[in-house]
Amino acid sequence: MSKKEQTVIKCHKCGKEGSVELWTSLNTSSNPEAKKDLLEGRINLFQCLDCNSEATVPVSFLYHDMENNYCIWHFPFEETEYIDFYDNFTTRGKIKSDSDEDFLPEPSYMKDAQIVFSMDELRRHVIFRDNLYKAKSEKKANINAVQAGFNIVYLLTNFHGRINENKISDIKKCLHFNFRGDVDIESEITLINSLNHKEKSKRFSDAVNFMKDTAPPETRMRLMDFALDLIAEDKKLSDDESKFFEFLRLMLAN
Ligand SMILES: [Zn+2]
Repeated sequence: MSKKEQTVIKCHKCGKEGSVELWTSLNTSSNPEAKKDLLEGRINLFQCLDCNSEATVPVSFLYHDMENNYCIWHFPFEETEYIDFYDNFTTRGKIKSDSDEDFLPEPSYMKDAQIVFSMDELRRHVIFRDNLYKAKSEKKANINAVQAGFNIVYLLTNFHGRINENKISDIKKCLHFNFRGDVDIESEITLINSLNHKEKSKRFSDAVNFMKDTAPPETRMRLMDFALDLIAEDKKLSDDESKFFEFLRLMLAN
């Protein structure tokens, strides 16, 4: 939940009173539009209608991103002068929170909240965390695609008894060239070889479905062509096999 209220404060420059919307808590799931304001420095910003001066109002403020499981506490630095302020923290400098926001159980990451003393630093930390999650999820998606790609090619050739050291080396080269990613191919091979036929089929269809749902079309087609080349190079496909590959090709292409 976000918390905000309209408050009247005195302008720090001309002393005239004016109204400002003060946020003490911003939950990005409840108020996604307010995140944009925050990143543009417009949250808790007092704008004087008399002298046009602007200033960020110093208030305690909780930024809460439930999607990415993190939160940041901003405290006005002036508060560090008061002994009672330190009751909010553990000796390790972590937040000591017993608040029961809407009586919901407190997520564990609340205790690991980043603590900052300026709204600029809060903004920078939000940008840092957003970029961090993006980079990590892209990396993970890439690894998953390479893994699925390897499973498809390896299992296809495996089903046809065409696996040998040269083939494995070709597959690795192709995957490295076309996809890149930190997949431990040796562990994948060990794992796949330990499966029985039924488990292999299951793993194969899981990998195909994953590839079908996530990989871009050109990646899928490249993979399929590579698999067909590997299998067909020294063996004429039977009618059934041709039909199966045509089916697979269509499925991967969609
Ligand atoms: Zn003013």
